[in-house]
Amino acid sequence: MALPRGVGETRQCPHCKATILASAVVCPGCNGHLRFGPATGAVAGVLQPATVTAFKIEGSFDNPVAGAPREYTVVVTIRNQRGELVDKKIIGVGLLDAGDQRSITLTVDMAAPPPRNKLPPRR
Ligand SMILES: [Zn+2]
Repeated sequence: MALPRGVGETRQCPHCKATILASAVVCPGCNGHLRFGPATGAVAGVLQPATVTAFKIEGSFDNPVAGAPREYTVVVTIRNQRGELVDKKIIGVGLLDAGDQRSITLTVDMAAPPPRNKLPPRR
């Protein structure tokens, strides 16, 4: 099925530079407001498309070696229904000393795309 032009398109958040959906009113990464006014029908996040969390996992890890620091890399991989790579990103890196812990929350939020006339103009 062919999607209307603009649906699923991405752009860069002007605040945090993350790649986000062109239809986003608020950046999900930094919560920066992206579009305002009557052109979108949204004012400071008051009117946004209904969003559901389609997937969420939480977990934590710690340094398994007592007395020795360990570096870590957090990688997220997205594959389609055929197992083909769609995207792969390093989300974060760091160092854990003994007793340090990090927790990770991964969410996938979904919403219907806005009508085409609500999408921002292409640049
Ligand atoms: Zn942002």
